[in-house]
Amino acid sequence: MPTHKLLLLPGDGIGPEVMAEVERLVSWLNARGGVTFNVETDLVGGCAYDAHGQAISDETMKRALDADAVMLGAVGGPKWDGVAYDVRPEAGLLRLRKDMALFANLRPAICYPALADASSLKREIVDGLDLMIVRELTGGVYFGEPKEIVTLENGQKRAVDTQIYTTGEIERIATVAFELARKRNNKVASSEKRNVMRSGVLWHDTVAALHKREYSDVELTHILADNCAMQLVRAPKQFDVIVTDNLFGDMLSDEAAMLTGSLGMLPSASLGAADASGKRKALYEPVHGSAPDIAGQGIANPIAMLASFAMALRYSFDLGREADMVEQAIADVLDKGLRTGDIMQEGMTQVATTGMGEAIIAAMEAQAA
Ligand code: NAD
Repeated sequence: MPTHKLLLLPGDGIGPEVMAEVERLVSWLNARGGVTFNVETDLVGGCAYDAHGQAISDETMKRALDADAVMLGAVGGPKWDGVAYDVRPEAGLLRLRKDMALFANLRPAICYPALADASSLKREIVDGLDLMIVRELTGGVYFGEPKEIVTLENGQKRAVDTQIYTTGEIERIATVAFELARKRNNKVASSEKRNVMRSGVLWHDTVAALHKREYSDVELTHILADNCAMQLVRAPKQFDVIVTDNLFGDMLSDEAAMLTGSLGMLPSASLGAADASGKRKALYEPVHGSAPDIAGQGIANPIAMLASFAMALRYSFDLGREADMVEQAIADVLDKGLRTGDIMQEGMTQVATTGMGEAIIAAMEAQAA
């Protein structure tokens, strides 16, 4: 029976509350047989700082590097607002991303039919939406040097950020996008600004060459990033996979996310390079933060966390059928009218975090029966 090493880092605020629902689901899968998850749990963020003065310890980092996949809840909160910059809760997350060399950020935007009315767009535009933004996460203008503010001789200041991409960096993120597309609807839109940026020209040409060489079975289009932003609100269902750089990906993924309603619904994955056996380092986390305003009340929406686990099933453990079951179960409970407070609508039934988690497992049991 395949055995997978899973590291859970619940973190702060509502992190442990939503992670408890992942634990419930993992126990269910383990009891069902066919696959075994060996689960370890550790500290990251403010709770790690309280325990040993660091946002993540070397020991925890070692466990993360050794795991087949890492699930992260959320980090931070007002309690740690005053701590030194290099040990603040977010530093734990940044170290995980850096040491695991996670260069590909996957942000799906799925609009469940039952929640289509909660979108700021018209139902017919978002109902059934299922797209994936693949954002380059470790290069580009956020990291390029020089990166500075200098004082000029005339007393003015000048700020510089530098957009840098190499063909290797572009190829590896485009490869992730093409591979994903093959498992979805086989379409990639590559987004850049080749009309005004040299890095955009290289991005375009590199993606086009890779496509011709290795992925000509996938439908590829090139779209300027400003047009992509527009098309996302005009007709988002035209897209399957969008691949783009760090800066444009930051904007476009948030824009796409909001097409679907609440923060409590949005999962993400960050992947590293494939090793010789094809395995990638991987971190899965909800897009939302630690929600200190509702922490400790047991009312947080666990769907983003559970959908992040579904991504782990699909991308780290090759358990696509089980991933489909989780996603279908989420759609089923929403269809039945169950809602946590953040997505509550008139005439629906409000449930707490555990109520939602239990209902999702019951829906999976119903599918399995
Ligand atoms: P947040 O995402 O924590 O919360 C924003 C709003 O959305 C709040 O009203 C919250 O109650 C609500 N919300 C978020 N997730 C929810 C869920 N699952 N169910 C129901 N409601 C939910 O963002 P924020 O308030 O800006 O940040 C709070 C803390 O989280 C800060 O310390 C911030 O630095 C941190 N943060 C961490 C991460 C991360 O760990 N990746 C991401 C963003 C923010």
